[in-house]
Amino acid sequence: MSVASEPILPAIIVGSGLAGLTVSDILINQYNLKNVTIVDKNPKVGGNSIKASSGISAADTKQQHDLKIEDDSADIFYNDILKSTGQSPNVDQLLINKLSVDSKHAVGYLTEIHGLKLDKISKLGGHSARRTHKSSNGIPPGYEMISTLEKSILKKIEEDDNNDKNVNFKMNTKLINFTVHKDTSIKEVTFMDISSGKTFKLKTNNLVLATGGFSANKNLIGKIMMMIVSFLRN
Ligand SMILES: Cc1cc2nc3c(=O)[nH]c(=O)nc-3n(C[C@H](O)[C@H](O)[C@H](O)COP(=O)(O)OP(=O)(O)OC[C@H]3O[C@@H](n4cnc5c(N)ncnc54)[C@H](O)[C@@H]3O)c2cc1C
Repeated sequence: MSVASEPILPAIIVGSGLAGLTVSDILINQYNLKNVTIVDKNPKVGGNSIKASSGISAADTKQQHDLKIEDDSADIFYNDILKSTGQSPNVDQLLINKLSVDSKHAVGYLTEIHGLKLDKISKLGGHSARRTHKSSNGIPPGYEMISTLEKSILKKIEEDDNNDKNVNFKMNTKLINFTVHKDTSIKEVTFMDISSGKTFKLKTNNLVLATGGFSANKNLIGKIMMMIVSFLRN
């Protein structure tokens, strides 16, 4: 299929878990970007994120300070993550630094912009401080975060008086491939409509891959879980 006459989309976000919906929400509601396309191979948004039941881990948050949890910091969080990698040679220290330093902003975004409480904080295995946040209202944290972000994005679609499809959800659509031109940043992205099996291409200058560590792949999760179960049995 030729893509010569296709419009160049301002942004395509692949993955509608916490990462994908957060990027989409920021682009749509904070930067007012038009024509953002959110793609997911699953029929519903949420990925693995919607299953999260313990909460979101972050250091040096307002919620921790409110609860007088003063024995945590981004540095301590960083060291906990590094320790949990078992000194693997593949460790990306920049990524760990980003995660630990920015974690309080992630919680801040959900609480200050979206009104989540995230006021119940636990100390989980591998963490040396109480830093895993969920809301005290009893709503499972993954569901609360995903449904809040989804609503925020859908509200923008409803508010769109001109109905010019500011945001386009393409569910049941799998990313197959993408190419980055040497002479330009334009990416041609190939997708498959899972219902029909047909492939199609879109063009964009900004492709965000938010497909998650396990790509919400039940087989892979099952395989890892079986390894853990078998490890525990042994
Ligand atoms: C049962 C369970 C409980 C968990 N509990 C917690 C917890 O309490 N706290 C915590 O911090 N972490 C928890 N985790 C881990 C956490 O869910 C993940 O780290 C987090 O969801 C990753 O978010 P994400 O947005 O990067 O990926 P995901 O939420 O997995 O989203 C990725 C999305 O990308 C889509 N996708 C993948 N490949 C393609 C493709 N080729 N084309 C189109 N779409 C694609 C998937 O369908 C999926 O919707 C848990 C995980 C599981 C499985």
